[in-house]
Amino acid sequence: MDLKFNIKLGEKYRSSSQKARVLTESWVENNLFCPRCGHNKICHFSNNRPVADFYCPNCKSQYELKSKHGTLGTKIADGAYRTMIERITGNENPDFLVMSYSLSDMSVTNLVFIPKFFFLPDIIEKRPPLPPTARRAGWIGCNLLIDRIPQQGRISIISDGLEQNQKHILERVNASQKLNTYNILYRSWMMDILNCINAIPKYYFELSELYAFENILAEKHQNNHNIRPKIRQQLQLLRDKGIVEFIEKGKYRKL
Ligand SMILES: [Zn+2]
Repeated sequence: MDLKFNIKLGEKYRSSSQKARVLTESWVENNLFCPRCGHNKICHFSNNRPVADFYCPNCKSQYELKSKHGTLGTKIADGAYRTMIERITGNENPDFLVMSYSLSDMSVTNLVFIPKFFFLPDIIEKRPPLPPTARRAGWIGCNLLIDRIPQQGRISIISDGLEQNQKHILERVNASQKLNTYNILYRSWMMDILNCINAIPKYYFELSELYAFENILAEKHQNNHNIRPKIRQQLQLLRDKGIVEFIEKGKYRKL
């Protein structure tokens, strides 16, 4: 993988956003393998598709690219808020590729693959409407809060300018697939419990350590008054999916 952009391609564009789009998209098309099946390239959709930017000619997976210059940070700007929420709840999403790049050496610094089912309404942040003076006054955009996605759903392809091992990437993508479930409410609970488990900094943990998150979870799921049973139910689900192992009563191990 050559992490440098082909800057010649951007020369004929005046607007910096158009230039960035051409450079980042052509980089993906010329360098990236399919993170789902490992095919040696993914292709750009020829015309402006409303949803996806790329597809794999082998496994037909679709990808959308989001990019920003500078550090990757915790959030990335995306399009219209309502469209994004509709897409997420409709399960019509492509998988996401989130890229950061350096303007000084015109190269990719970070690239993260995020499987589509990790996108839930609570990682979509509503931006304030554009002011009356703006060309699109009143328009409401959104930010993707990528730091809220459990680590199992943020799979690094390039990290701080270093290409990660392809075999390892494909294994992580394959393992993340176990967390896929089409019921969005179920999925939302599962991701919340997964974030709690990830926040416990050790492999072995006890049920009481998860109960410590009860108030945070109750705040988020205000219609649910049975948080503890819900925690136990999700633990069973995560056990069935091979994410945690039950050691003995109230004791667990991360896999
Ligand atoms: Zn593929």
